[in-house]
Amino acid sequence: MSEDKELVEQSSLVQPETVCATASVGEDNNHGAISLPIYMAVNYAWDNPREKPLHDYSRRTNPSRDALERMLAELEGAAKGVVVSSGMAALNLVLNLVKPGDLVVAPHDCYGGTHRLYTARHKQGHCDMVFVDQTDPAALDAVFARSPKMVIIETPSNPLLRVTDIADIVSRARKCGALVVADNTFLSPILQQPLNLGCDIVIHSTTKYINGHSDVVGGAVLVRDAELGEELQWWANCTGVTGAAFDAFLTMRGARSLSARLLQQQSSAGALVERLASDNRVKQIFYPGLTSHKGHDIAKRQQKGFGALFSAEFADDVDVYELLENLKIFTIAESLGGFESLVCLPASMTHAGMAPEARKTAGLGDNLVRFAIGLEHVDDLLEDISQALEKAV
Ligand SMILES: *Cc1c(COP(=O)(O)O)cnc(C)c1O
Repeated sequence: MSEDKELVEQSSLVQPETVCATASVGEDNNHGAISLPIYMAVNYAWDNPREKPLHDYSRRTNPSRDALERMLAELEGAAKGVVVSSGMAALNLVLNLVKPGDLVVAPHDCYGGTHRLYTARHKQGHCDMVFVDQTDPAALDAVFARSPKMVIIETPSNPLLRVTDIADIVSRARKCGALVVADNTFLSPILQQPLNLGCDIVIHSTTKYINGHSDVVGGAVLVRDAELGEELQWWANCTGVTGAAFDAFLTMRGARSLSARLLQQQSSAGALVERLASDNRVKQIFYPGLTSHKGHDIAKRQQKGFGALFSAEFADDVDVYELLENLKIFTIAESLGGFESLVCLPASMTHAGMAPEARKTAGLGDNLVRFAIGLEHVDDLLEDISQALEKAV
């Protein structure tokens, strides 16, 4: 490791951009390669049968995965990172910290895959599970009276971008000793650092903004306490869910430009929100950057930016199917966080599994469209929405 690298690591003032640009640079002892080579090896030679080498078998540790784990841990201010094969693997990994009878609290509007996994684990008897509206103080009072062991936060939520007060949940959890886990996928450590707000664990679907190139499914668990991190690393090896070396290499490559991408995407999202907010064919926009948004004040306090996702509820006379089909630059697809702009219709796509009545109760209208803004030029995106809207009324 070069002296420069050590200097950077010792500084407590390193900004995320610097972490992304310097991680693992200078670590290749063989040739001084700037980009750390991919270690595809499964197994590693021992000097002698008594001393276990740093790396012995790639399910347990792998140099490429290690490099990504250290980068992500530093970005979130964690003592330890564990990189796994998907966001869902990360959300499942933390459930190894609870047992039958323990209560886990999750948001009622969490990511669909999280809802499916946690409901299935509950049914199976792995732990008790309750889904609540974490923006409702009365609901939080009731659930914290039951002394939960773990609380999962996901803020902002999908697709209404509801904002949960992380510090409030943390202070409630401290009183009963519950672990607080934040799914930080939607903002990334560039715009929100839950460990700094008191959370114990951060989870990412690195599939989204962190990799950002729509070509790797991956996940990560970043842990404030080193010992708890080791426990999760043990479980990841034990259950065989650690991420692949090639995926780690690609994800690290993607994460080099995380801040530049996300800030650009956020700026375009802000411009699109501004344009749509003044259009009478739009009923309501859901974006924490709007002062009219219910979570605006909390978002301003706990986030460094409002992100690149928003939803719009179009007027009844707008045919949203026509709107989506006439968009030329936006692609109709699920997911988010890549270089490409996407639109989705929650009622018929991501939330189609919900009963229509339940969708209505949750505030998901049939004319609600979610936008995930990519890296195209903002003028082209504005023009694309304008021309498609003309054809949809
Ligand atoms: C996509 C996503 C997940 C699941 O991640 P995968 O990498 O698809 O397994 C979990 N949480 C949130 C908020 C997500 O957006």
